[in-house]
Amino acid sequence: METQRPTKLEFAVQMTCESCPDKIRAALQGKPEVKSVSIDVGRGEVLVESALTTAEVQALIENTGRRAVLKGIGGSEQDVGSAVAMVSGVGSIQGVVRFLQLSEGQCLIDGTIDGLVPGPHGLHVHTLGDLTVDCSSCGEHYNPFGTGHGGPGDADRHAGDLGNIMAGPDGRASFRLEDSQVKVWDVIGRSLVVDEKEDDLGRGNHPLSKQTGNSGERIACGIIARSAGLFQNPKQICACDGVTLWEERDRPIAGKGRSKAGTETPAAHL
Ligand code: ZN
Repeated sequence: METQRPTKLEFAVQMTCESCPDKIRAALQGKPEVKSVSIDVGRGEVLVESALTTAEVQALIENTGRRAVLKGIGGSEQDVGSAVAMVSGVGSIQGVVRFLQLSEGQCLIDGTIDGLVPGPHGLHVHTLGDLTVDCSSCGEHYNPFGTGHGGPGDADRHAGDLGNIMAGPDGRASFRLEDSQVKVWDVIGRSLVVDEKEDDLGRGNHPLSKQTGNSGERIACGIIARSAGLFQNPKQICACDGVTLWEERDRPIAGKGRSKAGTETPAAHL
């Protein structure tokens, strides 16, 4: 991976013991990718600036024995916008992918998706935020300029072409990429789709190579929704609504059991 620009992640963390902040600080500062750590015990907040994925930072905090909930994500400069897609699909596939617009021309895309068949899977932004017929109603790859299908590094590509994500032997794909064509404000309300097979990035000789990358069936998808930037999420861990925050933490990140009928959609809190 090339050098990654650090992002700031704001976590709500239960810090009830006196040594908690020190343990969390030690766990995070032991990593070369972590640039800074700031902890506010009173507010139950941990702010981490790093080039790690949100899942990696969360695991570092939680390995100290405390639970952590991501409250906001931001870049080093003033943020232009952020979004989140809760992805779910075939079998037990589920995940969360976050979009953070670092500048006019750079969008950071950070995600973890579980339940995949190990190996590469095409990842694309599709035109429609319509899941009425599962992922097949998402439309085609988002293509505002009428170009051909390609890879994320190609000049001739659909704006929604994000290449491939790689699932490990445990079925998890954890990724952090930067893209010059995806803009948070363009993709909110559209969808993110994961494909069955590897995207050939337009380089295969299959008739579908220049249309979809011949990456097989759509196996998981989610609508891209606006999300909170740093310090924009007013929820606190306290007797008042902390319970809600922690209940959300223990719910699956997507799919069945994630949303309850009659309650606000969890994506709105992220
Ligand atoms: Zn495409």
